[in-house]
Amino acid sequence: MTNQEVANLLRQIAKILEIKGDSTFRIRAYEEAATRVENIPEPIEDIWKRGELTNVPGIGEGIAAKIEEYLKTGESSYLEEISKDIPKGLFEMMEVPGIGPRLAWRLYTEAGIQSIEELERALVEHKLQGLRGFGAKMEKKLLDGIQMYRQLSGRIPLYLALPIVHNVITYLKGHAKFVDIAPAGSLRRGRADIGDCDVLVATDDPVPVMEAFVKMPGVAQVLAKGDTKASVFTGGLQVDLRAVPVESWGAALQYFTGSKAHNIKLRELAIKKGYKLNEYGLFKMDTDEKVAGRTEEEIYNALGLPWIPPTMREDRGEIELAMTGKLPRLVEMKDIKGDLHVHSTFSDGTDTVETMARKAKEMGYEWLVISDHATGLGVVGGLKPEDLPDYIAAIKEAEKSVGIRIFVGLEGNIKADGTFLFTDDRVEVLIAAIHTALNQEKEKILDRYEKTFKEAKPHIVAHPTGRILGRRGGLNVTSSEVLQLCSKYDVVPELNCTPMRLDIDDVGVLTAVTQYHMPVALGTDAHDAEELVNMELGVIQAQRGWADADHVINTWSAKKVEEWLRSGHKQ
Ligand SMILES: [Zn+2]
Ligand SMILES: [Zn+2]
Repeated sequence: MTNQEVANLLRQIAKILEIKGDSTFRIRAYEEAATRVENIPEPIEDIWKRGELTNVPGIGEGIAAKIEEYLKTGESSYLEEISKDIPKGLFEMMEVPGIGPRLAWRLYTEAGIQSIEELERALVEHKLQGLRGFGAKMEKKLLDGIQMYRQLSGRIPLYLALPIVHNVITYLKGHAKFVDIAPAGSLRRGRADIGDCDVLVATDDPVPVMEAFVKMPGVAQVLAKGDTKASVFTGGLQVDLRAVPVESWGAALQYFTGSKAHNIKLRELAIKKGYKLNEYGLFKMDTDEKVAGRTEEEIYNALGLPWIPPTMREDRGEIELAMTGKLPRLVEMKDIKGDLHVHSTFSDGTDTVETMARKAKEMGYEWLVISDHATGLGVVGGLKPEDLPDYIAAIKEAEKSVGIRIFVGLEGNIKADGTFLFTDDRVEVLIAAIHTALNQEKEKILDRYEKTFKEAKPHIVAHPTGRILGRRGGLNVTSSEVLQLCSKYDVVPELNCTPMRLDIDDVGVLTAVTQYHMPVALGTDAHDAEELVNMELGVIQAQRGWADADHVINTWSAKKVEEWLRSGHKQ
């Protein structure tokens, strides 16, 4: 048993005593004892064997007894006893930066939250805003904390990695000489959560580039540094930079972008055509003559294919599709003309309709859907039917002052029995969503969707599977099950662009677009103006689902959106 393990036990006890509101004196005593034990150079086990535990300053009879039991048995009956009535998830919650024992206890006792998953969901759905001290700032702080915790346990959501890698690339462009630079790996493919941040740089003089990289401002730690490869810790993430020769740039970028499955298939194709493909280039099998490698295009073209966008490289049939020459022109950020799902101060948003509209205009949009919550949800201040005149007046006013088309939207809750809150002829865009009774079995959930689709005829179903990125939980349905209903009742599935939702996921988009030939609706679900920029994450996921601009309603003109709203969606 190491000193650190014993210290951990004492800290754990201190935490639980703090959760339970025990005396500050006792809590301190355990914390201090933990620090002491950590700092003793001699193994605590030796001190105990000599019977000298209580000689250590800060360790009295009581604490000594607990240490002794732990050293003897590897267990602590005291810890067991005091933690009996505390949910296990609370301990994991306290690992999240920003959550101390008191807050964890409050979240449990005041909101029934017992795990990080439950906390995350409640934060995403703004369900804690009724608690004392829980404003938008606190929500953000805790969500950031959860993300930080996850990174430390090895997972990185795309939205955290993108800006960090972007900063690295921008910095290097200004401070080092090279021919080309690009992210690689799952980051370049736009996966919703990624394994690591890889950056490739094309240069025949790599040493100064590595030098500049490890000396970047904001580097907290240099993890490794060689002549052609270095790793640093920056912005809370590990970023790896790898230099490759200029003449192999395309081959290396292709190789390190992956995916593995895509590359295997591509290599097989190369062999069939009498080539071998590796990170240095494409070579003739018999003569070893290099036929391509400078650019990715060269390589794909030499294999008889058009260049395949990285977001499609998952071996989901993209190579076969490329062979037929029918690759879609994937949707891009510059195609986007509007956002289909945002909130304002009329429900639980923090910015006014006008502020949201100004941000939309700033992003170059032509139109915007303000879609505040209808009443009845567990959120503060949902719209009631009698609020509609004020809501619509505010929207019309902003439409005039900002100068973009603003649609009157409403996000209504599909109740546990499948009935819908309210609809109104004055609502132009009706969004239906499940926010309550999330744990129902599959059939119940699908019945709920079907009843609402049939009776309320919503235009869009928001965050259809309720997933929170990479976590268990979400509704007991798959995207394809919901999509089947969407297709039957002509309801458009949303791709919710909240960084931790991205729901429906990329495979869902692929199913919607290629199997049902239906469009998807990108909605940032922004609760403040800054969140409108999350559209980019949605666009990336839509690309991963092979969506071209036609299949993304957000690329349509306001007029075309109006036509769609009128067609077959009479209420
Ligand atoms: Zn919602
Ligand atoms: Zn919403």
